[in-house]
Amino acid sequence: MTRSPAGRFAPSPSADLHIGNLRTAVLAWLFARSTGRRFLMRVEDLDYRTDSDIAARQLVDLAALGLTWDGPAEYQSAHRDRYDGVIDGLVDAGMVYECYCSRKDIAQAPRAPHAPQGAYPGICRDLTDAERDARRRETGRPPALRLRTDVITYTVTDLLHGAHTGIVDDFVVRRGDGVPAYNLAVVVDDAAAGVDQVVRGDDLLSSSPRQAYLARLLGYPEPTYAHVPLVLNTDGARLAKRDGAVTLAEIGAHTALRRIADSLGFAGADVDAMLAEFDPARLPRHPWIYVPD
Ligand code: GLU
Repeated sequence: MTRSPAGRFAPSPSADLHIGNLRTAVLAWLFARSTGRRFLMRVEDLDYRTDSDIAARQLVDLAALGLTWDGPAEYQSAHRDRYDGVIDGLVDAGMVYECYCSRKDIAQAPRAPHAPQGAYPGICRDLTDAERDARRRETGRPPALRLRTDVITYTVTDLLHGAHTGIVDDFVVRRGDGVPAYNLAVVVDDAAAGVDQVVRGDDLLSSSPRQAYLARLLGYPEPTYAHVPLVLNTDGARLAKRDGAVTLAEIGAHTALRRIADSLGFAGADVDAMLAEFDPARLPRHPWIYVPD
């Protein structure tokens, strides 16, 4: 089946969306619609502790901005079989291994002199069967599954950052609690939905080499990325709900749209007017410092 290409927005239902999240959503919509793509909505609710009322409020807020998406929003929690099938395939192909490490084990492990910061140091990569049994007994924890990667870095192309090279370590594809890892779920869902354009906050730029590498390994096309600048508070920290006057409930859709349009240099303050003016080459490349009205 061939489908027209798509962009998407993929909120995690951890809290109400703030103006930074809303601005990223507007940008994802603008990138998709200005290139004739479908626009899809995906609620990243694999973490079952999250609350479905929050997801519903997020969708109401996005619609209140005038954003439209094609088809109903998808919920990752409805796709466990999809992820489990891919993970089973990786297990069968010998491409993953069990990892018994705690965060502390990883932090305390000796590191090869040139190993990149933040990379898994390979503690469980080459365990013998006997060593693995011993680790299982010692820890008493179910293992996470890590991808056995054969590269150290991978380069993605980003519409705003150009060629971006980042670490690809043996990252987790299924957590010890059995939940598919974010990096796997994103890649599987984007491919399943025909998403070929990923627009999101630039805090996720460093995840994109791992995700693109996994996409290639699974035989999926690699999407085009656009990691857009974050919104910061006046202390220069990432905007958060506690900063106040950041959610639609607090400021209203009209003000939010006007502030977002101003921050992006648009004259028009509704999403259709922004679409008519949208030029990715003119997007600000620096974080937006949000000062409430
Ligand atoms: N769910 C992630 C977040 O809210 C975004 C994931 C993505 O866009 O790939 O930060």
